[in-house]
Amino acid sequence: MKFMQVYAVVDSEYRVLWVGGEWDEFALNGGANSATSNAVLSTSVMSHIAGSETRAETARMVDAVLKHKRTLRLEYRCDSPSVARKFQMTIQPMKDDRALMVHDLRDAWHFSPPLNRWHYDPAARDVKCSFCGDVRLDGEAEWTSCDDIGDRHPTHVNYEVCSTCVVSIDRAVEEVLLGTDVTAALDEDKLPR
Ligand SMILES: [Zn+2]
Repeated sequence: MKFMQVYAVVDSEYRVLWVGGEWDEFALNGGANSATSNAVLSTSVMSHIAGSETRAETARMVDAVLKHKRTLRLEYRCDSPSVARKFQMTIQPMKDDRALMVHDLRDAWHFSPPLNRWHYDPAARDVKCSFCGDVRLDGEAEWTSCDDIGDRHPTHVNYEVCSTCVVSIDRAVEEVLLGTDVTAALDEDKLPR
């Protein structure tokens, strides 16, 4: 598996000050052509995140890191229709009320056969979790993992945060509040300027 790491520096208003690593490759792989590094600089990171719940949870994590000056860590999935990808996100405090968000690819495997290609549609009744990729089909109460969904992946999805991921984020934020020691992913002083 190819190593991949992308990172972004944001300020307390979530403005992207700097991006690095294999950002463009990551954005293009994800199909987000508008989110290449040149296009995101000085925009709000929130303007690139689909779904109000996802934006609120992301803000909650960044705010906790900035307020308590401690590092937060969360595992999440960012799949393409053909490849499942497990990432670790680390949000660490920097000088001057800034935060460094690091995304490390930890694992990847192929969906066989590939999932149906999906598009974000805020009006869609089928819902996808922004953090684990699970799907809640319209009319169903349970979330289904993309590892089990087979040919039933919807083609249009709205993004929300599933209850399991809300619990994971609660725990990650609590670790920041309690001061549980989490190792930083990158040394701030070693970043290129
Ligand atoms: Zn989830």
